[in-house]
Amino acid sequence: MRVFELAKELGVKTKDLITELNENGVPIKNHMEVLDADTIEIIRDSYKITPAETEVSLEQPEKTKESSAESKSEVVGNEILLDGKITVKEFADLMGLPGPKILGELIKMGKMLPLTEILEPDVAEQLAERLGYNLVAVEEEKVVHDVDESKLKVRPPVVTVMGHVDHGKTTLLDAIRATQVAEREAGGITQHIGASWVDLPEGRIVFLDTPGHEAFTKLRARGAQVTDIVILIVAADDGVMPQTIEAINHAREAAVPIIVAINKIDKANADVDKVKKDLVSHNLVPEEWGGQTQIVSISAKKKEGIKALLEMILFQAEVMDLKTIYDAPAKGIVIESRLDKGKGPMASILIKEGTLHVSDSVITGLHYGKVRAMLDWQGRQIQLAKPSTPVEILGLSGVPKAGDLIEVVENDKIAKDEALRRQQEQQEKILAKRTKITFDELFSQIQTGSVKELKVVVKVDVQGSLEAIEESLEKLGAGSVKIKIIHSGIGAITDNDVMLASASNAVVIGFNVRPNNSTRNLADREHIEIRLYRVIYDLINDIKDAMEGLLEPEIEEVIVGQAEIREIFSVPKVGTVAGCFVITGKIVRSNSIRLIRDSVVVWEGKIQTLKRFKDDAKEVQQGFECGISLEGYQDLKIGDIIENYTLQAVT
Ligand code: GDP
Repeated sequence: MRVFELAKELGVKTKDLITELNENGVPIKNHMEVLDADTIEIIRDSYKITPAETEVSLEQPEKTKESSAESKSEVVGNEILLDGKITVKEFADLMGLPGPKILGELIKMGKMLPLTEILEPDVAEQLAERLGYNLVAVEEEKVVHDVDESKLKVRPPVVTVMGHVDHGKTTLLDAIRATQVAEREAGGITQHIGASWVDLPEGRIVFLDTPGHEAFTKLRARGAQVTDIVILIVAADDGVMPQTIEAINHAREAAVPIIVAINKIDKANADVDKVKKDLVSHNLVPEEWGGQTQIVSISAKKKEGIKALLEMILFQAEVMDLKTIYDAPAKGIVIESRLDKGKGPMASILIKEGTLHVSDSVITGLHYGKVRAMLDWQGRQIQLAKPSTPVEILGLSGVPKAGDLIEVVENDKIAKDEALRRQQEQQEKILAKRTKITFDELFSQIQTGSVKELKVVVKVDVQGSLEAIEESLEKLGAGSVKIKIIHSGIGAITDNDVMLASASNAVVIGFNVRPNNSTRNLADREHIEIRLYRVIYDLINDIKDAMEGLLEPEIEEVIVGQAEIREIFSVPKVGTVAGCFVITGKIVRSNSIRLIRDSVVVWEGKIQTLKRFKDDAKEVQQGFECGISLEGYQDLKIGDIIENYTLQAVT
């Protein structure tokens, strides 16, 4: 008999049973382990006599009531999830800092408070910010609160499939959905939104299938976590690849459990053992090798192993004990949104708690509305949506952002007033000084003792430099401050890197690689600092200086413009001349330039000649063609980008 089966028989949570077994000296790691007859007997017996239980149940209600204010707040990553009120002393304990340290911070904020004083919400928020944390009032974030346990009901798990491109994400999702359509019409189901579900006898599983890691991080960067379980798909003929590692890092940072599906086992060159070994080197140790990672071998194409995978998901969900309230005004998270020409703003949302009905008044992000119609993932009209259900809704005043919370309020007026208040608040925030997560800031947070590690995302041009940088950073971080590389890889800095940094309060470091324009804009919007280096020594020195609080006033590079090479000419005496088109900003002859090929800097230097038709030009604006030759560099290629920039001190 396996652990979960015994738990079922006894009517207890599998998780609790595992804890109990461990406490009694039976080293059980997970719900799938087989129990021996003696253990089963002892446990069964212990459940017949329950004196301890009576004692506990007499004591418990009072205890939880009293301690609920302080004990439920917690620190998760860079966020303080504040549940209820908190005193100065409790705040210090929560942060693991001495009380006087917090008092000191408060004094710096102009507040003299005794340790026993309850912190006002705005003071707690400012204090958290000074220490480098985000304060999130749990009422907003964790949607279930102060609910009578007995009203909570099990909700379906929400699963995201992640993995390297071509490893079979789409095929797997199709195969999973096919388990549902087989008995119905052939030709499958047309999917309407980026989410779907399957119904098994044991329960429903909801899949979020907005592609790749992007959606996952985007939502998390907005403080919304909708995924309960990540399925990491790895092709058995290809093994662990860069995006596999990216996915592992994303899931880890979000503290979401991973189930690994080793795919394509039907292929002749499939090597499941090699994949497992690769996984071990990323700290995913299979259960059969004594680890805790659940792994299932599948062939998405041949639809083999799908049932085992689905069962594993349901077991995992059971262990996680996912419960919420059904009978309450709905709250959910926007997972996608768009503007439909005919129907107006449309949002796909995932219900987190309560039940959403047609004609409910809602507020989401900066918008409000009345649910005019609701469609399920197959485009069918529905009247109500329960927890973990993905639905598309019509009737909003505008298009909300992915990650926005959507809540039902009492009536249209409340919804509208609140939306207008938020719009105004947003306006004020934009006007207020924009803050970036910068090296300086992070280090001053480190110095106040609140942040213990500097998180970085590192992107480089070649493997060799990655190794060198990793090694140097490791050495640097040996003291009191740790440097944690939350993700590293080879190639351009992408939107994904920025979103991961944004979600984790990290800085992005580029070594001989650059972000493209849209990524640069995204970083600006997300207030993420991207630091670009060409020399490892400079990078290490900057960090060293920052650690000692010595960073020079920052010199910021201002990109003046970029031109794309469209043609190449060979001109006698001059050499190679590039026929260019200025795609952004302008090109100024006297500025420093760099030559970028496939997002990698291949050369840096000066412009030799800049011409508009036959004439020399000082500068050429966006939208115009020009001829450019470089000082001492001939190896130009069509498609290369010439970027010119100036340096200026940040004020
Ligand atoms: P995605 O990029 O991760 O969504 O990958 P796809 O689902 O598009 O799959 C990429 C390719 O691998 C397609 O040609 C699939 O037919 C193929 N493929 C996916 N799963 C399997 C499998 O289990 N066995 C084999 N042989 N091919 C597979």
